[in-house]
Amino acid sequence: MPTNELRISKLPGRRTLRCALGTMGNSMINRLRDLSIRRKLIAMLLFTNAVVLALVSAAFVVNEANRFRSEMQTELTALAEIIGNNSSAAVAFNDRQAAGETLAALRAKPYIRTALIVMQDDTVLVRYLAPGRPAHQLPFTVTAGNRVSIDPGRFRATLEHSRSPLAIGEDIYGVYRILLDGQQIGTVVLQSDPREFTDRLARFFLLVAGVMLSALLLVYFLATRLQRLISAPITHLAQVIKAVSAEKNYSMRAQKEGNDELGTLIEGFNEMLVQIQRRDQQLEAQRQELEGEVQRRTAQLSAANRELNQTVAELLVSKEAAEAASLAKSQFLANMSHEIRTPMNGVLGMTRVLMESGLAGEQRRFAEAVWNSGESLLSIINDILDFSKIEAGRMELEPAPFDLHDMLGGVLEMFAAVAQRKGVDISLRIDPDLPRYVVGDPVRLRQILVNLLGNAVKFTSRGEVRLTVLPLVEQGEGWLKFEVADTGIGIRPEAQAHIFESFSQADYSTTRTFGGTGLGLAISRQLAQLMEGELGLASEYGVGSTFWFSVRLEVLAEAPECLAQQSVLLEGGEKPCFDACILVAEDNPVNQDVVRHMLGQLACRVDIVANGELAVAASGEGKYHLIFMDCQMPHMDGYAATRAIRAREESEGGGRLPVVALTANALSGDRELCLAAGMDDYLSKPFDCRQLAEVLLRWIPERATSCPEGCTATDPVTGAVQPARPVDAPEQDEPQHAGGRPLKGESPEGEVLVFDREGLVRRVGDAEFVEMFVEKYLESTDKLMTLLRHAIEVEDYAEVRLQAHSIKGAAASIGAEVMRAVSFRMEQAAQLEQERPGLPELFEALERALAEFRRVAAPV
Ligand code: ADP
Repeated sequence: MPTNELRISKLPGRRTLRCALGTMGNSMINRLRDLSIRRKLIAMLLFTNAVVLALVSAAFVVNEANRFRSEMQTELTALAEIIGNNSSAAVAFNDRQAAGETLAALRAKPYIRTALIVMQDDTVLVRYLAPGRPAHQLPFTVTAGNRVSIDPGRFRATLEHSRSPLAIGEDIYGVYRILLDGQQIGTVVLQSDPREFTDRLARFFLLVAGVMLSALLLVYFLATRLQRLISAPITHLAQVIKAVSAEKNYSMRAQKEGNDELGTLIEGFNEMLVQIQRRDQQLEAQRQELEGEVQRRTAQLSAANRELNQTVAELLVSKEAAEAASLAKSQFLANMSHEIRTPMNGVLGMTRVLMESGLAGEQRRFAEAVWNSGESLLSIINDILDFSKIEAGRMELEPAPFDLHDMLGGVLEMFAAVAQRKGVDISLRIDPDLPRYVVGDPVRLRQILVNLLGNAVKFTSRGEVRLTVLPLVEQGEGWLKFEVADTGIGIRPEAQAHIFESFSQADYSTTRTFGGTGLGLAISRQLAQLMEGELGLASEYGVGSTFWFSVRLEVLAEAPECLAQQSVLLEGGEKPCFDACILVAEDNPVNQDVVRHMLGQLACRVDIVANGELAVAASGEGKYHLIFMDCQMPHMDGYAATRAIRAREESEGGGRLPVVALTANALSGDRELCLAAGMDDYLSKPFDCRQLAEVLLRWIPERATSCPEGCTATDPVTGAVQPARPVDAPEQDEPQHAGGRPLKGESPEGEVLVFDREGLVRRVGDAEFVEMFVEKYLESTDKLMTLLRHAIEVEDYAEVRLQAHSIKGAAASIGAEVMRAVSFRMEQAAQLEQERPGLPELFEALERALAEFRRVAAPV
């Protein structure tokens, strides 16, 4: 639409103008607003006064102008009257000359511009024009005969106009009617220019302007002083506000000068400050109160903390005491187990020999009874030991790669004969998906299975016992389930709940019939839990029971190298040989010989050093494949030496040399100590050739080769040891224990313990070198005994401990069991803090044991 377009195109122009004006106005107003109050007040007063003065002056000037004008008009009219009176005769007689003369007198009045005497017929009788000044505005008409007449209409209009108050700058007229006998015969008209009038007016205007200026100056002077009445309190208030906000000092006050609005404002401001100050004071008081409260609470808290610290310290002491007690307990149990197991092995071994010695009838039954009781006693002791370990949280799994299928077969084989004797079928079902090679603790897994299968066979008199093993696919890789189901006596529902509690059995008649400690299931369940699994049961009384447990093992895709070689070398009946260079750090000459001999049997090259320092130095040569490290040695023990070797390896880089601890301690914390020092494995004395071979296969399988002859070893499946053969015991005084008890009292066959010759032969692999070892042992132990005696005399208990330990180590290696037991007691007694009871008596016992060993071990 063209119209709209036009309109639209025009709009911005107008708007822009309006905007520009608006902006100017706004900027002026803004500038005014930003002025100080003082200037605003002065400006206001000046502006107001100027306006008032201007108005008053204007009124005054207009009034004065009118007054001048009317005065001049009156004067002109009076002059016109005089002229009219003087020229009335001339007018009556139309005497131009006379009239002209009368008018000529007007020369004395220079402001008269024009003078006329107009006749009744509007003709001009005579006219006077001021010299050099033309007639102005008057409407003359020159008619025929050179007569001048006037246009009456315009003439009247001109006169009318000159009388108006607005005709300030116009000419002024004075008019007089000439009368004769009451009749108008002519008119005198005087025209004056307004110069005099305007001159007067200008003078007057200048005066007014001067007065106005002075008045304004005065106003300015007064305003600058008077404005203080208003601006001073406001400025003062503003300054106080600024100071208060800058200094945050609410105690300041503004000075009130009067009771006007400003006074009220200042009063209000002061009141506000008072309230703020009061609130501040209240806040400060509250803050101080709070601070006090915080301090009080802090004090209470630190008192509580102190108490807590004290309690913690006390608890720590109690904890340490408890730990010490627990350690003592576990050490006691470890000692006990060792101390009991060793003679028990003797008892069992002897009984077995006795049974095979051609006994008949009652004697054979008695011997069998002894053997059976011994076996159960040993298993009870093992159970109690395991249970105590679990209770004390010290049971730790020892993971190793193993062949699960083989292990299951072995376990089942263990029970095959018993089950067959009872007429019970025993079977193993392995799921096709069950992994074969796994990493876990085979000993503990076996223990659970032996316990469950043992119970199943024990409580089943007909039917079958079945072991099923399957992977728990839904729980993820490595999860396995083992089920032992039997068709035995079953368990009553009420008994099922508590048979997992320790020392608990289904009922006491069972105990009477079948025996048992009630620890097996408790231990099995804990072991399963240690392997991240659980153990449960489903049973119907009189029908049978199914015990199941789950565990998590690491699955290996293929047979690990060590397992493969081990199975080839050990289970193939071949003797493992090693193309290896071995360093042995061992201070005891007997042990040195035994180890050297055993390693020689395994075809190793052996270097022997007598302390840790030498071991660190020798291992630096870089020619060894493995180190056997005795833990207790003079100068530098095995732990320190291993740490030094590890530190050197770390700083120099290169491979990690396997270090295997050799220790005579059977205590549970020992293994952890060795591993913490940087050792890789652990072999407790006495060890045999096979154990050595196993360690070598585990750590340096790549050095294994085959050689024609094998070591004498323990049974690979059952782990059972060969019983020791008795040595004929000639009559002699019984060795006495420190407490006065006969050493023989530890075993009915005390002489067997004096020297376990068979054990030694079995460990070292052949009998050929036994005499040499014995000789060496006696030689070195004699020396140690001298040192020990001296240490006891000078009460150097650390030395006593060291020597007793050395004697114990050598005794363990040679199989001098009594020596070992007594020196162990001495080592422990020397370790005690306060009393070291009976060291001299123990020494005597040791001497007797040594004499006894000398006698027993002497070549027959
Ligand atoms: P114990 O060493 O006495 O056998 P366990 O803890 O192994 O101890 O077993 C506890 C009790 O649980 C047993 O005495 C027996 O009463 C019961 N029990 C265990 N296994 C079976 C089973 N397969 N059949 C019947 N009863 C069983």
